[in-house]
Amino acid sequence: MKVSRRDFIATTAIGSASLALDLHGQNKPDASAAPPGNPPKKPLIICAHNGYDYLDRGYALLTGGGDTLDAVMQVITGPEDDPNDDSVGLGGLPNEDGVVELDACCMHGPTCMAGSVAAVREIKNVSLLSKAVMEHTGHVMLVGEGAQRFGFAMGFPRETLLTERSRKVWLLWKETMSNQDWWGPGLASPNYKLPDENPNHSSLREERIQQMEELAGKLGIEPGFRAAAVQRVLHPPYGTIHCSAINEKGEMSGATTTSGLAWKLAGRAGDSPIIGAGCYTDQDVGSAGATGNGEENIKVCGAHTIVENMRRGMSPQEAGMDALKRIVRNLNGDMRKMQYVDMSYYILRKDGAYAGVCMWSGPPEHLRRFAVHDGTKRYETAVALFQGKSIGWPPMPDRQHLAPEQKK
Ligand code: ASP
Repeated sequence: MKVSRRDFIATTAIGSASLALDLHGQNKPDASAAPPGNPPKKPLIICAHNGYDYLDRGYALLTGGGDTLDAVMQVITGPEDDPNDDSVGLGGLPNEDGVVELDACCMHGPTCMAGSVAAVREIKNVSLLSKAVMEHTGHVMLVGEGAQRFGFAMGFPRETLLTERSRKVWLLWKETMSNQDWWGPGLASPNYKLPDENPNHSSLREERIQQMEELAGKLGIEPGFRAAAVQRVLHPPYGTIHCSAINEKGEMSGATTTSGLAWKLAGRAGDSPIIGAGCYTDQDVGSAGATGNGEENIKVCGAHTIVENMRRGMSPQEAGMDALKRIVRNLNGDMRKMQYVDMSYYILRKDGAYAGVCMWSGPPEHLRRFAVHDGTKRYETAVALFQGKSIGWPPMPDRQHLAPEQKK
């Protein structure tokens, strides 16, 4: 079903749930609008679900009077150090050449300073490296080899980031899918072709998955991880961690770190290192960050848009929903494309009100969650724009149906 940009704006403006777009999420009560007489709590930390295990140490630093950016770093260096989190730092899934390249950025509300690094190799804690750029240079962003050289000069150790497990998943991709890569056309291109909707598609797919699982076995991937490895190849996962924190005084900071999109082209930088897309903090208003489809998020400057929406009076939830709708509008409301786009925002307002919003709710048994600590550490369910499960991304054209000369 294709909805024009004009139709989409019209449908959302009149708010009809029966029209082409399922916008159920908008009708949920706005939990981020604080009830009268019950002010939001401070200090508070909000982050992507994979930061949950590290929230205590960030919160302890905040309650001990520590700086908000240091508290954020306590949280996000956890997944960076964890070899089993294959979306961040050590163990991150590599680019198409089998090389792990990391992106990160940070913003410190009280001083209005920012730092960022992109496409960095062999340095695990790129969140701390982005903070070092902020603190020890007159620049905001360093990339690639220059960022790496700066890191070594600052004393960051040279480390091998590709774990055996990630190497094997990359090999599985090389052997089975590397003809379906990121060389375009991308989802937004008029030349992009949606995957084949041939009725035999699902049985072919099952057969293919089985063959891939067999190959995973031959490559030495342990039995319990084979199905997950195949999914990572078919739908390179998104992960990443964003974290924003506010202390008792109302000071805020935010940071985002990632290994980015699996099997990406070398040198690709996503939204995570882009100040204003993957992360943005304004001490007068709030802080926001993103995980999900970096390419689409860059085009709506997601984190900055959300903070500016709050400046104009929107609640955290409304501000995030608006950014999600801008992504839908950029793809002309075409739900066949939208099913490939996942996006989550983590939003904090200056008074401690917060929200987690996402494009797709996820399946009922696995609803999209984020993590919060305000004295009580917990997961909360994100408010979704669309109910249901995305197919995942990237939106790779299924080249099975193309003529041989069109296949790479
Ligand atoms: N936003 C990240 C990127 O595009 C990926 C992610 O969040 O998983 O690099």
